[in-house]
Amino acid sequence: MKKLFPFKFILLFVFLVIGAVCFNLRDHLLWKKQQLQNFTIYYKPDSYAQNHLQEAMNLYEKSYQHAFAFVPESKHKNIKLYLYDELELLGFSRYDDQSVHYVFSEKFQLISSHEFMHLFLKDFNPKAPVRLEEGLCRVNEARSHAVNGEVKVIPLYVMGKLSPQIQWHLQYVFLDHYQNDQEGNLAAAFVNFYLDSWGQASFWSFYRDVTMDNWQALLEKRTQVSIEKIDNDFADFVSQL
Ligand SMILES: [Zn+2]
Repeated sequence: MKKLFPFKFILLFVFLVIGAVCFNLRDHLLWKKQQLQNFTIYYKPDSYAQNHLQEAMNLYEKSYQHAFAFVPESKHKNIKLYLYDELELLGFSRYDDQSVHYVFSEKFQLISSHEFMHLFLKDFNPKAPVRLEEGLCRVNEARSHAVNGEVKVIPLYVMGKLSPQIQWHLQYVFLDHYQNDQEGNLAAAFVNFYLDSWGQASFWSFYRDVTMDNWQALLEKRTQVSIEKIDNDFADFVSQL
């Protein structure tokens, strides 16, 4: 049996190499690409993106530049931008391969700097609580809703008020997970509350160093206000949205 070991090992290695080649080949056949200065657009043959490529290039260049300017100390990098006709989530990002993914179809085009922002924010502070990061990506976003036949544009942070009142507290903002819009919007409300109360410079100096372990002490240090008072004021802020 001992003699077989190197043979098995070599066989496994060969399978892994073949697998990797096939995976790359599949990706190569499935996706076409267009290299731009700061990102590469990936799109499928005969997709909406292929037929509207110049438009997509212009729109996402603006999204990229907005995210770049929004996050302090951003450095240009080559991001992979994947455009889909269909996608279960409308958009998402992956830091490990520096990619962002958006629906860009006939029916719906998600044009937002949100996913680019995640990548720049992770560079700025990779240890920031995940839910706070999500709130920051949403702080300038809005959604349009039809109310009594009239289309109204409502900022996402205002929709933070739709979360249960029991959650209008800091402990529901500083968490290392996030699952739905409601949680993200409440975190956006907190970011707005901070910016309103102490301004941008203070916010970024807080965000640069915040982690799951230090957020309470750091919040008190940066604002010179007790955590209890901040917690109460945040609940008041949400109630008035
Ligand atoms: Zn997000």
